[in-house]
Amino acid sequence: MKEFEDYEEEIYKCSRCGLCQSVCPVFKATLNECAVSRGKFNILNGIIKGDLTFSNNVKKYLDLCTGCNACKEFCPSGIDARNIFVAAKHEYYKNTKQPLLQKFLNSYILFKILLICAGATGKIMRLSGISFLLECFEKILPQLGYVGKRLYLFNSLIFKRFNNKNTCSSDVNGKKAVYFEGCFNKYINNDTESAVQYVLKNAGIDFIKKNFECCGISYLNDGNIEKFEALIKKNLKAVGDCECDYILTDCASCNYVLKEYKNYNDTNTASEFSAKVTDALDLIKDIKFEINSDKKYNIAVHKPCHDNYDFIEIVKNINGINFIEVQDFDKCCGFSGKFALQNQQISRKISAQKAQHYIDNNVDFIITTCPACLLGLNQGLAEVEAKHKPVAINLFVFLAKYCKQYYINN
Ligand code: SF4
Ligand code: SF4
Repeated sequence: MKEFEDYEEEIYKCSRCGLCQSVCPVFKATLNECAVSRGKFNILNGIIKGDLTFSNNVKKYLDLCTGCNACKEFCPSGIDARNIFVAAKHEYYKNTKQPLLQKFLNSYILFKILLICAGATGKIMRLSGISFLLECFEKILPQLGYVGKRLYLFNSLIFKRFNNKNTCSSDVNGKKAVYFEGCFNKYINNDTESAVQYVLKNAGIDFIKKNFECCGISYLNDGNIEKFEALIKKNLKAVGDCECDYILTDCASCNYVLKEYKNYNDTNTASEFSAKVTDALDLIKDIKFEINSDKKYNIAVHKPCHDNYDFIEIVKNINGINFIEVQDFDKCCGFSGKFALQNQQISRKISAQKAQHYIDNNVDFIITTCPACLLGLNQGLAEVEAKHKPVAINLFVFLAKYCKQYYINN
């Protein structure tokens, strides 16, 4: 992997033109110069010259970033902001002694416990009927302040009894596929895995499962490379000697990060692992889908920042829908894991602006391919009051649930 010092020349390339301001979601929400890449490069220049050191304050400004990399696309010098910020945060971790509490808050074990608790709470809410009650009062929840909005968000993640009884073998048209479900789908949103399995099964494709851990995106984004590398090792071990041809993902972020493994683990195993990572959508791109009701839904998409696969054509080609191209459909949803926890108000502001575009266009479903984006979209929908709110939904769940060929029993 490239260290901070390897990026010095790239940082110098910033001409201070300020064009990145016009695309940076965090700058637009805060008007804080330190939020945009130009401001961060000023700080990093100070560090290179020795005027500044990697302090907690510097880390705080580096964290004012969703990692969307929109600034890279727009920058005339093509500076790779996201990777530079990761390397800078890694340098911070190398140079700063973390208090024990901070270490505990950053630990993987705590992260996993929180996911398990969230998943268990969701199940209890669904089985006890609390989730159904909250759904009945969905319209007034956002009017009840912070708690109401959080309940709306949490309830939108409690998925609705989608049971897929298909059993798996391990054959993808003669090839072997392993499914990387991602931690969010594993612990909270089991619905997506069922939907992926259902759609693929109907397309004649099966997969096997391994005991994977989180892909490590939050540690990578945070520059906590030691923890990221530890997760890489665990996931490489989980595949073991299973000679698979594909490692399938249904999440844009997992897909991006798993392909990065080869850059952070200098072994053939990691290179082979990254080379096999395949978006599950790639295996269904030739299949036609048709809506299973007479209702002509207004469908829009949200393109995740990490999306390298053009799923929009798949959505546009679903027979019987009314596709709407909504303003900023390809702009960051404002969630981005730890960013949303550290900068709640900014994150909610970005998500709300985004949600408003879909509401203004009377959209019924917002289809996306990343569980974190589902959180961001639902966070935005919780912020905005409206008579008709769209449902944010994973593409595979939409195909399984609302498309003719893939009737489900719920
Ligand atoms: S667009 Fe690029 S060159 Fe211009 S200020 Fe932003 S980072 Fe620097
Ligand atoms: S990566 Fe996105 S949030 Fe971060 S500075 Fe660039 S445009 Fe702003």
